[in-house]
Amino acid sequence: MTLPRVLMLAASVAVLAACSKKAEEAETREVEVSSIPDEANGAPGGEQEAAWSQLTTEESRDPFTYSNYEDVRVTHVDLDLAVDFGTKTLSGTATLDFRRLSDEAGALVLDANDLTIETVEAHVSGDWLTAAYTLGADDPVMGSRLEIALPAGADRVRVAYATSPEAEGIQWLSAEQTAGKEHPFLFTQFQPLLARTMAPLQDTPAVRITYDARITTPPALIAIMSARQDESGERDGDYSFKMSQPIPSYLLALAVGDIEFEAISANVGVYAEDYIVEPAAAEFEDTPKMVDAIEALYGPYRWGRYDLLVLPPSFPFGGMENPRLSFMTPTLVAGDKSLTNVVAHELAHSWSGNLVTNATWRDAWLNEGFTTYVENRTMEALYGPERAAMERALDKKSLMDDVAAAERPELTALKMPADLAHPDDAFSDVSYAGGMFFLKFLETRFGRAVFDEFLKAYFAHYAFQSITTEDFLSYFEDNLWAENPEAVTKEEIDAWIYKPGFPDTIENPQSDAFEKVQDQLDAWLGGGDVAGLETGAWTAHEWLYFIGAFPDNIGVEKLTALDGRFGLSQSQNAEIASAWYLKAIPAGYEPAFAPLEGFLMRVGRGKFIYPLYTSLIKNGRREWADSVYQRARPGYHPIAQKRIDEVFAG
Ligand SMILES: [Zn+2]
Repeated sequence: MTLPRVLMLAASVAVLAACSKKAEEAETREVEVSSIPDEANGAPGGEQEAAWSQLTTEESRDPFTYSNYEDVRVTHVDLDLAVDFGTKTLSGTATLDFRRLSDEAGALVLDANDLTIETVEAHVSGDWLTAAYTLGADDPVMGSRLEIALPAGADRVRVAYATSPEAEGIQWLSAEQTAGKEHPFLFTQFQPLLARTMAPLQDTPAVRITYDARITTPPALIAIMSARQDESGERDGDYSFKMSQPIPSYLLALAVGDIEFEAISANVGVYAEDYIVEPAAAEFEDTPKMVDAIEALYGPYRWGRYDLLVLPPSFPFGGMENPRLSFMTPTLVAGDKSLTNVVAHELAHSWSGNLVTNATWRDAWLNEGFTTYVENRTMEALYGPERAAMERALDKKSLMDDVAAAERPELTALKMPADLAHPDDAFSDVSYAGGMFFLKFLETRFGRAVFDEFLKAYFAHYAFQSITTEDFLSYFEDNLWAENPEAVTKEEIDAWIYKPGFPDTIENPQSDAFEKVQDQLDAWLGGGDVAGLETGAWTAHEWLYFIGAFPDNIGVEKLTALDGRFGLSQSQNAEIASAWYLKAIPAGYEPAFAPLEGFLMRVGRGKFIYPLYTSLIKNGRREWADSVYQRARPGYHPIAQKRIDEVFAG
């Protein structure tokens, strides 16, 4: 997922505040490799002792699921759901195939959240029998525990249920909230814990499922899923889907709306509302080249087609790597391909995350750090080392800001602490940019050619598996480090993975282009005329660097001069506009506030709007921010509403 990379750690403080007892315990605990029991050491046969011991079953267990996946494991899910825009519900059945891993297992425990359960049946010797079940109390993070008693010989269960109109993972947009204004729209966003708001599941990345689905909708609408799309090609309100590769539950995804399709190549295309489908296909026309570039580096794309769905502006993220069908924010359609690194990112997840998956959210850097690294290598392959270096330089600045703002040091190590309060806390710059810089460090020490081969083998070795950080370290030790033991020390690796903050071995990305921008900025701040700035050849990256490097006390006069010449308050590039507003707010630059209001009303992407609301409140504009938010809130996604409510409450 491409998340709001700003303020995530600050936001995590709010989550911690809600469970302060847990937070206090957290302060006194450090998770270091030395604290991991060394049971796995000293394997029989006199082998050399491993540098990193493996986790016990208990330590590697995902704490954010109620499910008893160690004893009974769901392998396949069959969904048959009707979409009702009137009641804002999905209703129907989920049929789950499972395998018993323990002979004693007498129950199947699932995760559910805000589901109304109607009946539960178990399949025994060809018959469906009513099964006893209990639904536990609703926990704000985990949802409810659904325990189903399993009769002897049962091999499937079938749950008839309905979702809630308030389901946090499903956004229902009215016709007025879409661009076309004629038909309603719905889309899901499940990572990390919200698939359980759509269906009763073992909702943990440790469990992989295949799925089939039948979705019925109003006949004018199209349904698409993270699967092989309906092949009839008819818009008839009855759609069937198949995902034959095993995926973690958070990659289930559904969208329903008045959706059009535009092909980019034989295997790549764009789904979107009519107004943006052609501009988006043009913006993302390099996607097939990105597929080729990643395949050349890291082995075959394993998912068949690769399509992009451009969502309405309320989508709270940059993108979500739903397999075969990445969900994307429309703010990427900037007209100049300047923001397509997000496409490279979501596509890269087809290897890191979707193919090789973090087994728990404590290991989120295995998904996001690897993906940010592959994203950057893809940008380098397509657009050259200068653009890749600029993107790393911007990432590094953002990472260091995040680390400096962190109130809990444990959240600045790649491996998240055992008492992580919420998986969202694992999705900060630490796991994204921090993970990328760790892999960059390994690339530098072992050499690019060797490291590329290693990564390619890693993706093949763990394909369609869910693994922990310690699984990665063990594989690294055997397959890379063993070949060249002098390249790194164990202390260096431990510092990256288990110690808070980032070690001195982190890259300092050098960008000639940014140095030139800095020279111009210095000259202008030192008394130069705004007319003297030579920005004609600047890309969006150079603008972002330029604005990001303003001193805190830049003042209204300078902003006025700049806005007068370049019209930054009206920028149609959402990255540039939001960076500009973040400077305009503390400076009290009034002409930016009307366009800022329009931006907040129009855009629901968390990366932009969370820091903007936070800055408004911090800089004495609470009342104004609140009046905008009250009007904008109905159009925001439930995830964004919850987060911004916390910003106002905090
Ligand atoms: Zn991601």
